[in-house]
Amino acid sequence: MASSSLSKELHFLLIPLMSQSHIIPIIDFAKLLALHRVKISIITTPLNAQKYKSIVTHALKSNLNIQLIPIHFPSQEFGLPQGCENMDTLNSLQMFKNFLLASEMMQEPLEKLIQDMEPKPSCIISTSPLTWTQQVANKFNIPRYIFQTISCFTLYCSHMLNETKIQDTLVLDDDSFLIPNVPHKIEFTKAQLPQSTQDMKSLVDNMKKFQDLARGTLINTFEELEPWYVDSYKKVVNKVFCVGPVSLCNKGMDEIVDRGNKAYVDEDNSCLNWLDSMKPKSVIYACFGSLCQISLLQMKEIGLGLESSNVPFIWIIRGLNFTLEVEKWLRDENFEERVKGRGMIIRGWAPQVLILSHSSVGGFLTHCGWNSTLEGISRGVPMATFPMFAEQFYNEKFIVNILKTGVRVGVEVSTTSWNEEKSGVLISKDEVKKAIEELMDQGLEGEERRKIAKDLAHISKKAIQEEGSSYLNIKLLIEDVMHACTQK
Ligand code: UDP
Repeated sequence: MASSSLSKELHFLLIPLMSQSHIIPIIDFAKLLALHRVKISIITTPLNAQKYKSIVTHALKSNLNIQLIPIHFPSQEFGLPQGCENMDTLNSLQMFKNFLLASEMMQEPLEKLIQDMEPKPSCIISTSPLTWTQQVANKFNIPRYIFQTISCFTLYCSHMLNETKIQDTLVLDDDSFLIPNVPHKIEFTKAQLPQSTQDMKSLVDNMKKFQDLARGTLINTFEELEPWYVDSYKKVVNKVFCVGPVSLCNKGMDEIVDRGNKAYVDEDNSCLNWLDSMKPKSVIYACFGSLCQISLLQMKEIGLGLESSNVPFIWIIRGLNFTLEVEKWLRDENFEERVKGRGMIIRGWAPQVLILSHSSVGGFLTHCGWNSTLEGISRGVPMATFPMFAEQFYNEKFIVNILKTGVRVGVEVSTTSWNEEKSGVLISKDEVKKAIEELMDQGLEGEERRKIAKDLAHISKKAIQEEGSSYLNIKLLIEDVMHACTQK
């Protein structure tokens, strides 16, 4: 299992941005890495350390050497709400800048911590927005690796746009272009490209600058999923290690349920009991990640679309979307009574991977966050794509045009953040209904999508098993860290 007895002396410092879509995959990755008998310390804030501590308990039971170390996060000093230590409690993009600035204040205490650490860290692995971690690595003369939470497809296509600036020639929202120098026909309109505020642009520029200083890049993907893009991206940046899908590290039910926030359904298992009573592959699971904030108007259209599709569904309404207005609408419409037996609403946090792994789930209505996309792929679930912002339109094109395991709901405009819709309704209930029916259709096209999805799930499982591509890449990473240590 271990690369060599030397690996026992290695100490990896893992530092995720405090967002569900960074902390969850970093912790999953930590479990895969710890199987190689190295020591792992995950740096986070006090509230996040509390939130994720059960994961460490599971890891210890499996004899994995993982600890969580909290460092003070000055939320209030930066105008953030009290107790805001995770991006899932941010309700405005304006606050994102303050959130990042507050995270920079972790640098000094981290450096003090490292001075007293035994054994000393061998390297830092941190997610890309935390560029200050490179300075920490420099100070202690250890390598930093970037952990990417997006695909090679997105990384390479974004690189191409950065090189060619083809998008700068577009004037109207409907103006379209093909991503240059890639083997697939990938068409974007101006409106579908990630919309950047000035703050976002400077963050992206900063991340690019620091990319060149990193010793390597870890990506939560697997080589067999996007071989051309992996090979091409390897020519763009230093040492690429594809180490996913990391979510497959979770085997036991407790472990899966404890990913992220405390899942709502584990109190009485009503959701699982209900899924057990459903026909195989008959249910659609609708969830829009941990950040999107969806307007009441759009929520209504999603709800009515799910209802009119006549497909059994589980609809997740996350904390900040579950407003008094939404609750009032559900009550006034008698919505839950109307869909009783066929539809279930989870208010809050769902055990997503547990649900996606259930044999009754046959479709995933998703906002196309990369973690969710990869979780859908690795569980063999075809997807109806409903992207909203950031790189989610890239993931939609990857699912629909390249993998061919999904259907578009039809969103045409990327928003500037997770809580600002450009105009009232983005997507009507009829469009939601049509996409769900098409996805769940029993005809030839639906069968073909299901077959591809099933094959990909099989290949993804092999990737993280012993001697699989991602397993071997983790071994290569460990060797690279050992090599860096001996070079000092
Ligand atoms: N997630 C979950 N339950 C929920 C919502 C989200 O477990 O109710 C997890 C999901 O499995 C994924 C992560 O949160 O691992 C969301 O990451 P993603 O990149 O898909 O989207 P983001 O939250 O960044 O929009």
